[in-house]
Amino acid sequence: MDLNVLPDNPYLLLTPGPLSTTKGVKSVMLRDWCTWDDDYNGIVESIREQLVRLSTSASGYTCVLMQGSGTFSVEATITTALPRGGKLLVLANGAYGRRIAQIAGRLDLDFTTLDSGDLNPPDLDKIANTLEVDPHITHVAVVHCETTTGMLNPVEEIGRLVKHYGRSYIVDAMSSFGGIPMDMADLNADYLISSANKCIQGVPGFGFIIASQCILEKTEGNARSLSLDLFDQWRVMNQGKGKWRFTSPTHVVRAFARALEELENEGGISARFARYTANNALLIKGMKELGFTPLLAQEYQSPIITAFLNPEHPKFEFFEFYHRLKKRGYVIYPGKVTQKDTFRIGNIGDIDTQHIEGLLAAVKESMYWQPDG
Ligand SMILES: *Cc1c(COP(=O)(O)O)cnc(C)c1O
Repeated sequence: MDLNVLPDNPYLLLTPGPLSTTKGVKSVMLRDWCTWDDDYNGIVESIREQLVRLSTSASGYTCVLMQGSGTFSVEATITTALPRGGKLLVLANGAYGRRIAQIAGRLDLDFTTLDSGDLNPPDLDKIANTLEVDPHITHVAVVHCETTTGMLNPVEEIGRLVKHYGRSYIVDAMSSFGGIPMDMADLNADYLISSANKCIQGVPGFGFIIASQCILEKTEGNARSLSLDLFDQWRVMNQGKGKWRFTSPTHVVRAFARALEELENEGGISARFARYTANNALLIKGMKELGFTPLLAQEYQSPIITAFLNPEHPKFEFFEFYHRLKKRGYVIYPGKVTQKDTFRIGNIGDIDTQHIEGLLAAVKESMYWQPDG
């Protein structure tokens, strides 16, 4: 196939997913698949195996793919993991942690939230104390990279506490899995959640959960939802060798298989992590030189997405800035922190050093509103 006939994107997505994908990933979506045929189910099984391998070197883990955006997979995990009479402790320091609490509320689950505010990591002493005094808590959920700010939470330290107190551990690694090396056995995580359109660099349409198989096997009947029943989804997918319960996003799945191939060709997660880290360092250095201040201290900053404070300058206005950057070929993201005015720049996706350099030049031209546009 001649990839050169595919149109170029008018602008690069410097956003935390959907993100800029390669022409290879887009090109494999140009054919159709039959959902009950071995050709397609083989792709699904291969994806499941590869995701387990990427998430841990230990055995005893399985993988379920779930239709929808990442939140559907988070909701499927929460509704399936928590038994009747279970209680969830949510650790929140941004919109995605708070969304887990919102899901628990909608499901009418017993839950409690420790919210450390957008600018602080979860407090380990408070977590230990909460688990110590509340024996009803059965599960703990936390976000790995809180995409609201770009903060990397200490999931390994939290996992040690959760294990010490004998509870089950759910990690939303949506925006970090595939881009930051991790082993879910080392994290003591029972469930690790991510989606197709983040660091694996596929297109949006499904999420996935890697779970301890013996724990998932005990969740039959827990789900308060039919379509989001992770146990049923797993049973059908496992017994049917790659069969989905309901219509699967076939083109998206094929694109994801290609994205996994490209991840391997890049040198795996460690190589991708090195690329993201280098691009993120270049971005922060260049933005600082232009007078911008990152929201977070470097010790908390992930290499995935960076929040910058809006400069206090009479000629800076976010949407003006946004449109001027877009005209120059770069799309960035508005802020999501409540107390401060920020904007965000993602550096995940098919992005290289030249793109970051091009962006910095465009930022320099666009940062202050000028009447000539
Ligand atoms: C992207 C993301 C999600 C899922 O968001 P969707 O819009 O539903 O795909 C969940 N948690 C985190 C940390 C994310 O970055």
